[in-house]
Amino acid sequence: MMARQDSNQDSRTRKIVAVARGEATSDGAGVKMTRLIGSGARPPLDPFLMLDFFGSERAGDYIGGFPDHPHRGFETVTYMLAGRMRHRDNHGHSGVVEAGDVQWMKAGRGLIHSEMPEQDHGLMRGFQLWINLPAAEKMAPPAYQEFKAAQIPVEEREGAKVKLIAGAGISGAVGPVRAPHVDALYFDIELAPGARFRQETPPDHQAFFVLYEGSAFTPDMTGGQEARSLALLELGQGEEAVLTAGGQGARALLLAGRKLREPIAWSGPFVMNSREELIQAYEDFATGRF
Ligand code: FE
Repeated sequence: MMARQDSNQDSRTRKIVAVARGEATSDGAGVKMTRLIGSGARPPLDPFLMLDFFGSERAGDYIGGFPDHPHRGFETVTYMLAGRMRHRDNHGHSGVVEAGDVQWMKAGRGLIHSEMPEQDHGLMRGFQLWINLPAAEKMAPPAYQEFKAAQIPVEEREGAKVKLIAGAGISGAVGPVRAPHVDALYFDIELAPGARFRQETPPDHQAFFVLYEGSAFTPDMTGGQEARSLALLELGQGEEAVLTAGGQGARALLLAGRKLREPIAWSGPFVMNSREELIQAYEDFATGRF
């Protein structure tokens, strides 16, 4: 088959190195989801540990929510596309994440929280991403960055609307979330049919798209084969992430971040650098020190 030619394609463009469909799974109290990163089939993409997509109109798929559970050593990012999720932690912080809102939670040295649907019918749809913290930040105090949909800039590009959750666009606009430890970029992109999206990304950063509606081509997919939702499109080295929408348009996330290149000791809700630190995490949790 002929490679799909692109006259602008050169060594600067990141090529797709893997397409992953994700794995159907359930977590919390029986919430059905697709795990795109962080399952056996798809190990972490440093610094991104895990990525779940949930999307259902059936209350039975989400109503159980995520009752009280701990976290230590990383950040969780909840981005809602539809529905309402109530969050509450054991330090007195609570709130509701609604459609279009983002909650960027730095668990740091630890907290116990619940994430429960604030609805008993209708569509619940969104993503939860886990981003690793560097060793020096794993025991930092917990912190939140929370933004309503209206506070997040949307950049109008040719054939594209780009919602800047974290990172800088091309217009001078910058997403409100500050993620200095990995210099994260988190965009939600809506592409018209056939439209092409381009974004500079530091060459040594990890980068991938998550196609969650429609279909799209990325450089060097061959023979007219499109990637179809739902898919994680892992990108190789390069300076520019490029995605071209198929005939029905596309919606996708673009995520990028600096690799931490540190050892990972991961058990359930704790992600540390060593086994000793994991044992300490279980001990601290068991003795009420979260
Ligand atoms: Fe959680």
